[in-house]
Amino acid sequence: MSTLGDLLKADIALHGPLSVEDYMARALGDPVHGYYIKQDPFGASGDFTTVPEISQMFGEMIGLCLADHWMRAGAPKAFVLCECGPGRGTLMADIWRATKIVPGFHEAARIVLVETSPVLRSQQLETLGKVGARAWHVGAFADVPDGPLWLVANEFFDALPLRQFVKTETGWHARLVGLDETGALAFGLAPDPDPALTQDAPLGSVLEIMTAGLVFMQALAQRIASQGGLALLIDYGHSESGLGDTLQAVRAHRFVDVLHEPGDCDLTAHVDFAALARVARQSHAAVFGPATQGEFLRLLGIEARAQRLQQRARDAAEVESALARLTDMSPRGMGALFKVLGIGQRGGPVPAGLGEVS
Ligand code: SAH
Repeated sequence: MSTLGDLLKADIALHGPLSVEDYMARALGDPVHGYYIKQDPFGASGDFTTVPEISQMFGEMIGLCLADHWMRAGAPKAFVLCECGPGRGTLMADIWRATKIVPGFHEAARIVLVETSPVLRSQQLETLGKVGARAWHVGAFADVPDGPLWLVANEFFDALPLRQFVKTETGWHARLVGLDETGALAFGLAPDPDPALTQDAPLGSVLEIMTAGLVFMQALAQRIASQGGLALLIDYGHSESGLGDTLQAVRAHRFVDVLHEPGDCDLTAHVDFAALARVARQSHAAVFGPATQGEFLRLLGIEARAQRLQQRARDAAEVESALARLTDMSPRGMGALFKVLGIGQRGGPVPAGLGEVS
């Protein structure tokens, strides 16, 4: 068991079980032992690979979508170009390179990165320095400076802590992390059902509520509704709310038990885009999509970009295979499983690639 695992067991023995939400928050964000706080989890030698790390084309398409929308919104002379959870900084670096050709965009942009991890913060500055970009860090969205905001968050919402409830004969009980008879971490249920949850479902069903994600979305949507701009959220998730346990742990590119070595494994859950869209609408923002990543990238012209890159690339086959992976629309393909949601100001321009207003 990891150091954090031992600490959590001692905490539980003393104070009682943790909610799934608190478990996830500690496993990922514990100020000393949290997964994202203490290491760089990305790449072939890390635990997982994200889309921006597969190909520069992803960031280029996102950059062009943001810059095109900024131009059609009147090209404000000063705006915040923000990324939440930038990982190694690859996506923002690709956005920056791709938007060099857009008149006035770089001069007007102030890059602000929302990041809690000190290890990743320094990597992000290094990556951005290589493309001549300066950036400022904040630890929370509330600290992003005022002004019109063009924002991207890729695989960010899936890492925000969520609550789980299990349906029994007596109602929906919060799922908890406690100790079994051997003293190991084990799932259990709160003794009393949650009175606020009344929906019918088969016994044993699991309901997930993205508590932290919904709070984040409310702040983001209110901000864009009042100050203008666009947010693009890209994540693995579903367009319709549903039931089911989607919490998963990954280490060294393999699935492991969710309670295995907390702090040493990545924990994520699928994003409920319908719930995020509802909150954004309630916050008076315009909602675009969600579209599948494959469709979004195609509409933005990723195929033409791949062709041009292939003409120049040393390894044309690599560009071809990245294009196929990013836009793979088979049921288990990245192009179909990842979704893109746009949040804008009502009456503002419709972002390219997300034509449909839902
Ligand atoms: N967007 C990147 C990395 C995704 S991993 C990519 O696509 O490659 C999630 C990122 O979110 C990491 O940078 C992690 O440190 C950051 N993060 C996780 N929880 C956070 C929180 N509550 N506030 C700010 N950043 C957070």
